[in-house]
Amino acid sequence: MPRVFLGLGANLGDRLGALQQAVDLLARRGVRTVACSRVWATAPVGGPTDQPEFLNVVVEVDPGELSPVDVLDAANDVEAELGRVRDVRWGPRTIDIDILLWGDLRSDDPRLTIPHPRMHERAFVVLPLLDLDPDPRLPDGRRIVELPAPAGEARPYASPLSVPT
Ligand code: ADP
Ligand code: MG
Repeated sequence: MPRVFLGLGANLGDRLGALQQAVDLLARRGVRTVACSRVWATAPVGGPTDQPEFLNVVVEVDPGELSPVDVLDAANDVEAELGRVRDVRWGPRTIDIDILLWGDLRSDDPRLTIPHPRMHERAFVVLPLLDLDPDPRLPDGRRIVELPAPAGEARPYASPLSVPT
């Protein structure tokens, strides 16, 4: 079974609540979280610098029989569902869900690029990922811990989210 990792981020409203709801809603769509990193508080990378701080987690999921595109569809549905609840007007998203790694799979499709481009360069991905796997590798065999240190500020903020049973 390939190990599948998703990255979740929120920087609006009830951020911790949005992350927990995302985990719960993904599970209802068959994308069950089996392990969650600590919650990390991270400075925004790219985009406007006046954006609020993010909360980020990485979760390991069991996709069952779902394909990567099925999981992306589920993630987009959950983003839309939570976004609609919180935001009336166009603006920063309540939740962002990215597929980071899917075992050794590589996909160059712009709609679904795996591994997620530049994930290994971002502290808000790498530090939570290391909570779940102390020595993750990219599909090309590179060890993430041997790459240049990832950019951006990240500090532990809260214990892991609760994992749906
Ligand atoms: P970002 O996550 O880069 O801030 P978005 O969440 O708006 O940006 O995603 C933009 C597009 O990225 C989505 O339409 C999605 O199809 C595409 N995409 C490509 N690869 C992935 C991936 N591995 N995980 C999630 N989305 C991806
Ligand atoms: Mg995204």
